[in-house]
Amino acid sequence: MSTKETKIINKVKIVDLDAQYETIKMEINEAISKVLASSNFILGPSVQSFEEELANYLKCKYVVSCGNGTDAIILALKALDIGTGDEVITVSHSYFATSEAIAQIGAVPVFCDIREDDYNIDPVKIKGLITKKTKAIIPVHIYGQSCEIKSVVDLANKQGLFVIEDCAQALGARYEDKLVGTFGNIGTTSFYPTKNLGAYGDGGAIFTNDLEIAKEIKLLRTHGSNKRYVHELIGFNSRLDELQAAVLRVKLKYLDKWNSLRREAADYYTFLFKDITEVKPPCIKPNCNHIFHQYTIRVPNRNKLQEELDKAYIDTLIYYPIPIHKQKAFLHLGKTNLPVTEKVCDEILSLPIYPEIKKDIQQYVVETIKQFFEKSI
Ligand SMILES: *Cc1c(COP(=O)(O)O)cnc(C)c1O
Repeated sequence: MSTKETKIINKVKIVDLDAQYETIKMEINEAISKVLASSNFILGPSVQSFEEELANYLKCKYVVSCGNGTDAIILALKALDIGTGDEVITVSHSYFATSEAIAQIGAVPVFCDIREDDYNIDPVKIKGLITKKTKAIIPVHIYGQSCEIKSVVDLANKQGLFVIEDCAQALGARYEDKLVGTFGNIGTTSFYPTKNLGAYGDGGAIFTNDLEIAKEIKLLRTHGSNKRYVHELIGFNSRLDELQAAVLRVKLKYLDKWNSLRREAADYYTFLFKDITEVKPPCIKPNCNHIFHQYTIRVPNRNKLQEELDKAYIDTLIYYPIPIHKQKAFLHLGKTNLPVTEKVCDEILSLPIYPEIKKDIQQYVVETIKQFFEKSI
């Protein structure tokens, strides 16, 4: 189908939440009505059931939900007693929140470069960044594919460091036979609406097999208290609400199905791109099940291509246009040598992907890209 023949009146969205809602409307509306009728909105039965169901899904012992994915990282750091003056190794190629959480509790993010194949933390480059002040490593499983998490955990164990896995983009992704978020001391995730498991508002959670950590985070998320008006420590107000938990309980049942539909859509893109030499499709590591939170290609002339796609009513995103170490908020940390992070940043482009995406839309996207490169020769 050529660009001209295509009758796509609406914009091709990067993610289509309406399409998903249409498939689960009845269940969602019923779940929401039940919460409304119960008048129980905070830390009630839906939150408890959702936490149990998610722990079952992940095959981990404890899940504690909270207000959002950023708070999940803050709570995890607090529970591990990390704070002022400590250093935490993470990546600059991520959403700002990962490093913001580290800085928010008074610690210093130390940026590690990424690998060119999966855009995840490069385990080989971690060791040189460890100092006496280093307390933890926070790898991010970017775009929906696990980092080399076993190497990261092995290194951390040898060096006496904690590992917090930021799984906001990779809930349901595996490394070998285990789900991400269950390798390190703590896993964190976000239920921001556009994530693979998204609420209809904000939400987040931590996962752990450590009872003490789970208990501590349960206290921290609600003012350091587990008995009304009795406070054991200074905490936060960061809770998942019952409405969001009810929505997430419905959606969790479909997560694996949705993730495999994303994977099918990704495979189709990669198939369509096979003769377009300018496009480098994402790599899928053989021991991982990439769940394609983003389908991110690398191309020359990226900004021009993005403009061209925009003119053709195709939404795309640059995940992320400015690496965290170059953000104004972190310039005070000084110079950082991250050649791969900086190089990748100028070439990446994330294309529309979601479980319900239609083949003809994908064909239209690829055709538009193909025509762009034919024109530019
Ligand atoms: C979305 C996201 C977060 C933050 O989640 P919020 O729920 O928006 O606070 C953190 N880390 C990564 C990698 C993310 O993609």
